[in-house]
Amino acid sequence: MTLNWSCPLSKRVASFTLPTTTDEETMTNRPMLSRISTALAAFLVLLAGCSADNPAEHDPASSGVGTTRSDIVCTGAGLGSDDEIKFEVAYYVIDGKLGDVCLGKGSQTLVDAWDLLDTIAPGDALDSLGVFAGFSSKERGDEISVAFVNRANDDGSLFQMSLNLETTVEDGDYLAVTLAHELSHVFTALPDQLTASNLGIGSKSCDTYFNGDGCYTDSSLMTDWIAAFWTDEMMEDVNPIVEATADDGQARCDLNGGFLGAYAASSPEEDFAEIFGAYVLQISARTPGQQARLDWFAARPELARFRTAAEAAGIGPLENEFDRCG
Ligand SMILES: [Zn+2]
Repeated sequence: MTLNWSCPLSKRVASFTLPTTTDEETMTNRPMLSRISTALAAFLVLLAGCSADNPAEHDPASSGVGTTRSDIVCTGAGLGSDDEIKFEVAYYVIDGKLGDVCLGKGSQTLVDAWDLLDTIAPGDALDSLGVFAGFSSKERGDEISVAFVNRANDDGSLFQMSLNLETTVEDGDYLAVTLAHELSHVFTALPDQLTASNLGIGSKSCDTYFNGDGCYTDSSLMTDWIAAFWTDEMMEDVNPIVEATADDGQARCDLNGGFLGAYAASSPEEDFAEIFGAYVLQISARTPGQQARLDWFAARPELARFRTAAEAAGIGPLENEFDRCG
């Protein structure tokens, strides 16, 4: 995806879901969704034409390093197709590289998105992905899914990242924010960060925040993030078991200008993910609270390197088009 900075988006609303069930198998495949308002999606369609085409590095039908993996069930059902979401195409990911097409016939949209993701993810940052997929959506209503990640194995060391093929094009410049956002949900949920509940850890055994899927470790990024930006009072109102929506975050957004929109205020993870996307794409803070959050990333070299990579590739800065809080 070519980034064309002359076509700024007026705003972006993203949201994310948490599990509605404690079923172990479902939790293993628990999707973390990014959603976008349908009204905004319609607006974004108008902007999609602003992005120029970029010659692909790969042939989408035979992209990658020509390798496969046996630990991913690369079928529609295996990847999570349901009544609303249908997986159309998927690629294996091996050692952080895009591998063979394992579902469908390939997609230039997906290959271009991968190239962008690869550009902003330095070093071994993509090694925990096992499959990169594209889906179509029949969702109706105020919000539709634009992307999600979910665990692809039991111990939480491997992930699936999935993009809505339609909104990936419509996302324009902000696709890079979406990709960084999703990637943060991977590296904050690896086994050294989150002890998964299906390994015998339940909410009652958590000394730290139980996010519906496990306990964050004492030294995890999310534990530090919560200590820095989420008070006990704010945490009391977060229900990790039910699906989070922008509505859930609206009250906190109204009170605290540090959030990048109501959706970011729906949970610590969404707050982290939206700010990480903003940090990587050099989006400026509007408030001291937002600046403090950006500074939190700047102080951590292992996270600051993503911004360095984006900057070196000429990706960003973007305008701050997030909904206002406070
Ligand atoms: Zn998210």
